[in-house]
Amino acid sequence: MTGVLLRSGAATDVGRLRTINQDRFVLLPDRDLFIVADGMGGHQGGEVASQLAVETLRVAYQDATADALTEAIAAANDRIRNEGDADPDLRGMGTTVVALALMPEEPDPDGPFDDDAEAPQHLLIANVGDSRGYLFRDGSLTQLTEDHSVVADLVREGSISPEEAEVHPQRNIVTRVLGVYETVEVDLWPVDPIGNDRYLLCSDGLFNEVGADQIGSVLRRLGDPNEAASELVRLANEGGGRDNITVVIVDVVDDGDVAEAASTALPTVDPGESLSEDALDSARTGRPSLRQRRAEKRARRSQRTQLTWRALLFSVLVLAVIGGAVATIQWYGTSTYFVGFEGDEVVIFKGRPGGLLWIDPTVKEPTGIDRADVPAPALPRIKAGVEQSSLAKAKRFVANLEDQIDEGGGTGPTTSTTRSTTTADTTPTQAN
Ligand code: MN
Repeated sequence: MTGVLLRSGAATDVGRLRTINQDRFVLLPDRDLFIVADGMGGHQGGEVASQLAVETLRVAYQDATADALTEAIAAANDRIRNEGDADPDLRGMGTTVVALALMPEEPDPDGPFDDDAEAPQHLLIANVGDSRGYLFRDGSLTQLTEDHSVVADLVREGSISPEEAEVHPQRNIVTRVLGVYETVEVDLWPVDPIGNDRYLLCSDGLFNEVGADQIGSVLRRLGDPNEAASELVRLANEGGGRDNITVVIVDVVDDGDVAEAASTALPTVDPGESLSEDALDSARTGRPSLRQRRAEKRARRSQRTQLTWRALLFSVLVLAVIGGAVATIQWYGTSTYFVGFEGDEVVIFKGRPGGLLWIDPTVKEPTGIDRADVPAPALPRIKAGVEQSSLAKAKRFVANLEDQIDEGGGTGPTTSTTRSTTTADTTPTQAN
């Protein structure tokens, strides 16, 4: 088994304005665990909280698993809360924590690799509060964690810009913290360790004073993790040093093949060189490496998932279009009324004269008017069906027809408008 090899360094300083350093860090290279905690709270609370956090994690984190790390952080939360409750001087103390740990990947529940001795490793960053984890890879710096702070929330919801956040008066208020509430929610950020990766854990005393460009250029320039950490602390003091500053740097010296697996898993990244190395590797061992097989499996699964989703989405769209058309036709076929004959009786139908596709008109209301009574001029129109846009209008047409029958024939209804209009139209011409 190859295994990932890490090398670490750190620096911390009280800064230029504070008298006490409430930041704590711990490097445990034997267990591949690295922690930064930034304590807060009056009197001595802040430094006690951050000290309790690193101490509890050191003791409680025994198995290299994500659950163990989360549980160790929860244990630290309980411990700080209990000590704070017991001592009035420490009441309300709290701390951030950002931790980096190397661990085997969780076994794939439906994978056939359970009996394989070699499990790929990955790095896991755990975060509570506004201390940060960064990755410096291929010359560029990426913030991996999300701050749990008031200003970070405001930036995420678009209320203020990242530039405004940097000078915001509430930029020190955290929304998640260890030691204050009964439970703690931990963010976990898994990363594949790749050779030459540099991981940076730091308190806000660094990034509030030193820009990302500057941090990147130090990590590019100084290969030794201790030297780079000290230089970053120096720059933070130069920038103002308004808070305690703590920097932990963890370098991936040997990634134990993870780089190849990662590039196979992401076929969009130029796979040329790594793939040919994998091919060489397969040729030597006579079978693809475990990582290669796992990566291929992962890629296949995600492709399958994508296809399934695409097919499902397409079906849903097709059904929606068909459903919409059916509903439209149904509406068009039944939304109107017409007056016509059923046998020898004049009735009001719901629907279109002659029907529409599968929709036959239905009798809505008989009128009791016999074909024989209908004035001759109106006969052809009623035979064809006189369309009306509503039942009320159809009834008005029928009432109009009855009036004309009562008046003794006449020209019959000539319009489908209201009775008074029809009367005005027809009566005078008839009378004179
Ligand atoms: Mn701080």
